Amino acid sequence: MSNVTNLLTFIDASPTAFHAVANLCAELEKSGRTRLTEGEGWKLEPGRGYFVTRNMSSVIAFDIPTGEADSFRMVAAHSDSPTFKIKENAELSVRGKYTKLNVERYGGMLFSTWFDRPLSVAGRVLVKTDKGMEARLVDIGRDIMVIPNVAIHMNREINDGFKYNAQTDLMPLFGDGESKGEFIKLVAEAACCDVGEILGSDLFLYPRTPGRLWGRENEYILSPRLDDLECAFSGLTAFLAAKAPEKGVNMLCVFDNEEVGSGTKQGADSTFLRDVMKRIFISLGKGREELYRAMAASFMLSADNAHAVHPNHPEKTDEENCTYMNEGIVIKFNANQRYTTDGVSAAFFHRLLKENEIPCQHFANRSDVAGGGTLGNISGSHVSINTLDIGLAQLAMHSACETAGAKDVDYMVNGMRAFYDTRVTLGRDGEFMF
Ligand code: ZN
Repeated sequence: MSNVTNLLTFIDASPTAFHAVANLCAELEKSGRTRLTEGEGWKLEPGRGYFVTRNMSSVIAFDIPTGEADSFRMVAAHSDSPTFKIKENAELSVRGKYTKLNVERYGGMLFSTWFDRPLSVAGRVLVKTDKGMEARLVDIGRDIMVIPNVAIHMNREINDGFKYNAQTDLMPLFGDGESKGEFIKLVAEAACCDVGEILGSDLFLYPRTPGRLWGRENEYILSPRLDDLECAFSGLTAFLAAKAPEKGVNMLCVFDNEEVGSGTKQGADSTFLRDVMKRIFISLGKGREELYRAMAASFMLSADNAHAVHPNHPEKTDEENCTYMNEGIVIKFNANQRYTTDGVSAAFFHRLLKENEIPCQHFANRSDVAGGGTLGNISGSHVSINTLDIGLAQLAMHSACETAGAKDVDYMVNGMRAFYDTRVTLGRDGEFMF
């Protein structure tokens, strides 16, 4: 199967960050890499691969080289996407005739795209056990709710622009009056437990819209969560396909909570990455001095999707520093370093892509537009290494269904793979050999 077909299968099976990470871990385990936990001692061996999760929603995988661990080659992406989280007291009754679910927005989605489409619920449930409790992933996996629009006859001005209220306009209809009290039963059934055994949960809505190829030559893909599961999947595919490293550590980092600022214990703004890097060096019997030297010779590709020129609004993007679907990996620039790319990291990547005949394009926001942030500069505040912000061009970012280019997945996988297979050594400041 092609990378793009596998991507759509991966996204369909990953309705939440928990599921995305579980699916990434399953592939890592299948490839022979060993699962570690943060609570146990690590005995790492040269030539072996490992992975560790935090909160079940972020994962870092790494391959120890057969030779010197003198640098890190990292790809980072995020596992979460904008959605709605279900509140603890989940049901609301309307005149005794309807039962709605009580939800809160997670991240900045395009509200209107969530209306009138079948939705379901997935996430994590904490179940009481004899010894304490255990987390179980759940996916109700059926069309169980819809957020209905108000008819145009009752809201004549909607097409002139409408301000949505998150408390009144966005609650999904779950059922009739009889459905009150039933939601938790569906969750318990999905978690294979009794209602009374549920101690806590993190449950989210997701659109029941399978990803698909479309266009005259099937040149586009339409799917939920392309931002950023497209880059997470590409990172995994490249990581698994890369040569076993002789020198330097290959790493794949997929962080949760990018859509809400990364400031959680498992987000890019946590100690997770730095902790793993330190523990690798401790386990290999290396000192701090060696870690600092390795960090100086390291590179990170921070991979998060980018904006393609919009067919109806080309004026929204810079005239020249703009990107199109199916035209290659996007390198993102921002003078204020919301994107981390600088001359050094761009030059390194330009040469690498050129030598491997992989197309790339350049993105900068219009100078009068602030644009969004991403992972690179946030993780950089904990682990300061050469970083490049890249992504794939897509339309409708943060819509319930986004559009991207079908050819770009291969470009990204090949570019990341070439990166993993390239060893960089450091000369004086500003001089790199590769
Ligand atoms: Zn993103």
